[in-house]
Amino acid sequence: SFAVTGATGHLGRLAVDALLRRGIPAGNVFALVRDPARAEDLAELGVGVREADYDRPDTLGPALEGIERLLLVSSPTTGDRVRQHTAVIEAANAADVGHVVYTSVIHADETELLLAPEHAATEDVLQGSGLPFAVARNGWYIENYTARISEFLERGEIVGAAGEGRISAATRADYAEAAVTLLAGDITDYQGYWELGGPSFTLADLAATITEVTGTQVSYRDLSGEDFTALLTETGMDADTAGFVASLDLSAARGELQTDSPALENLLGRAPTSLHDAVRAAVV
Ligand code: NDP
Repeated sequence: SFAVTGATGHLGRLAVDALLRRGIPAGNVFALVRDPARAEDLAELGVGVREADYDRPDTLGPALEGIERLLLVSSPTTGDRVRQHTAVIEAANAADVGHVVYTSVIHADETELLLAPEHAATEDVLQGSGLPFAVARNGWYIENYTARISEFLERGEIVGAAGEGRISAATRADYAEAAVTLLAGDITDYQGYWELGGPSFTLADLAATITEVTGTQVSYRDLSGEDFTALLTETGMDADTAGFVASLDLSAARGELQTDSPALENLLGRAPTSLHDAVRAAVV
């Protein structure tokens, strides 16, 4: 049977859907959630709902009982994640889970991206655990941008510090489906590290796509890292968060969010959802 952590979150929920779409009986699918009261819709599908809190290791053993394959969706709690993920990996080992898929970040082991060290450390824990595993090194979500379309349209611009950096983003649904292929496929084919991303675009391309789809002019205004940080601070963001957000764009500018790997397309067996289609779906 299969288990997915963070199943009340966006990616985890899409992964549960992808397992069911793959024809896996709901009775063999377990949604591991922090708060089972928020998973009633999953229970109605016949999926098993189990409490699993990364911060409460006592919940993890029972949650993983009888599980053969586990999708560990990375925690959103930056700063605390290595400890949380380690607790899950240790519990998986104790429960004799046969295969673990972890959602990491693009180029985790060779990038200055500030989010990467916790993912790389988790990958090391997984590698050291002796468990069979696959790491889905996900690129950016297209939703990071489409969630802000109304803001972009209102301002008539996207402001950032990503320069001409190309970003190999893909939809959460595509990453979820690819993770499920790594989880449910032949594990001897799928062990190891997978750099995942869709066709790359610059923030100027993003602006042009939004303009084309909506008919409203949106342009991209590129700032230096310092000027972008200052602008974010002026709009009310605290200095640490502003510096962090700007650093992500500077990573994009250095090409750290780009990959030419065909792995996402190969795992999906089709082209990933395009930026154009994702923008169109977000504005209807
Ligand atoms: P969500 O925030 O929608 O989901 C995160 C999930 O983690 C939620 O289900 C949440 O539970 C669960 N969670 C948080 N804390 C704990 C805990 N202590 N124990 C158990 N579960 C916990 O994120 P997404 O689904 O959109 O993304 C998945 C992950 O991908 C993120 O957590 C983050 O690591 C990473 N990410 C990647 C991005 C990218 O562009 N590639 C962008 C943003 C995040 P609950 O539902 O109870 O809150």
